[in-house]
Order: sequence, then C-alpha cells, then structure tokens
Amino acid sequence: MKNDRVIDILDEIAKIVIAHEEELTDLDRAIGDGDHGLNLKRGFDAVMAKVDYFRENEDNMDLSKLLNETAMTLLSTVGGASGPLYATALMKMAKAFRDKNEGDIDIDDIEYAVKEAVEGIKQRGNASVGDKTMVDTIEPFYAAFKKAVQEEKNLKNSFAEGLEAAEKGMLSTKDIQAKRGRASYLGERSIGTVDPGARSSYLILKTIYNQI
Ligand code: ADP
Ligand code: MG
Ligand code: MG
Repeated sequence: MKNDRVIDILDEIAKIVIAHEEELTDLDRAIGDGDHGLNLKRGFDAVMAKVDYFRENEDNMDLSKLLNETAMTLLSTVGGASGPLYATALMKMAKAFRDKNEGDIDIDDIEYAVKEAVEGIKQRGNASVGDKTMVDTIEPFYAAFKKAVQEEKNLKNSFAEGLEAAEKGMLSTKDIQAKRGRASYLGERSIGTVDPGARSSYLILKTIYNQI
C-alpha cells in the first residue's frame, strides 16, 4: 500500500468519526461523561489538518512516520481515555512497520501490525474481552482477520471476516456490565448501552474496510 492511500484512509476515518460525533457522545452520555464524540472530533479535526501537511510532504514521509505523527496528534488533542489508547495502537503499528525488513509491506506485515495494535491497547488499558470497552470490538476483529489471512491471504476478504466479528463484539457490549473505564463506575446501570469506544473502533475498522 502506498503512502497516499494511507493518507486517504486517515482522511476518511477522520470524516466518518467526526460525522458520528453526536451518536458517540450520546452513548457516552448514557454510561460515561458524555464527551467521547467531542473528544474524537477534537482529535480528528487535528488529524484532518495534519492530512494536508502529510499530502504536501508526502515525499519525505514513510509509513511509520505517518502513523507516529497521527498518534502524536491524537495524543495531544483527544484528552479522554480513548486518546492514549488509539495513539498506542498507531504507535505500535508504526513500530511494526519500521521493524520490518525492506520491501513493500505485505498482508502478513499488516496482520502483525494489527496484532501489535490490539495487544498495545489491551496492555495500555489493562482490559480484556467482556470488560465493555473498545477491546470487545478489536480483539474479535483481530482473531477473525488473522484466521482469514492464514487461510486465503486476501486483504479485503480477511478484513470482511474481521469486520463481521467486530460488529458482533461491538453489539455484545450492550448487554454486559462495564469493568474498565468510566462506565464501570455505574456498575449494573452500565448494562443496556453499547460502549462508545466499542462503537468508534467499529466505525474506524469499517471505514478502513471500505477504503481498501
Ligand atoms: P473518558 O472516559 O476519559 O471520557 P472517552 O469518553 O473519550 O474517554 O472514551 C471512553 C471509551 O474509552 C470507552 O467507551 C472505552 O471503550 C474506552 N476505554 C476506557 N477505558 C478503557 C480501558 N481501560 N481499556 C480499554 N478501553 C477503554
Ligand atoms: Mg467520556
Ligand atoms: Mg472524559
């Protein structure tokens, strides 16, 4: 994948997340502090400003640099728990691509980078599947994506498999009690609402799928 495609994908993620500001904020208003949409809008507005800079400086950008700069942008603007978590995912992917030997990245490199991103978020937030967080979306995504990559080495198809599992995982957060993040303060009252971060991470994955 070429850098200009990655820049286009970042741009599209920013647009989609910003378009869902209200929905994400409504979910967070129900079980958190009502700022998830706003936090991500602030972050992705800054990413969109960066996208212009990335396009102007495309020749001096490698994939790792692009992802790291996006991570730093989110880290310094999002302000909620979700900011450092999404930034960690991007930094882990940047490192995974940097550590790779020369040559174009292939599907196995992407699978490894996704693995690192998911592991990074889980470690950073100390969350597992069932805690009602973004991990409930991204871990099932990775498991299904990895299986599909091993079976047929097709990026779009593998992403489709991952996305299907991610949607199930995202929806599963509705009926469980939060164990991590602000929603956990509500105890049983957190049941009945989809986790905002599970929803935003699903939107991000779906946008990537639509772009590849
Ligand atoms: P804050 O909770 O600080 O206001 P946001 O509202 O932006 O931050 O993000 C909340 C989302 O972050 C939650 O819906 C959840 O998906 C995710 N989250 C919060 N804490 C954790 C954690 N420890 N591990 C994984 N995800 C988490
Ligand atoms: Mg919040
Ligand atoms: Mg907050």
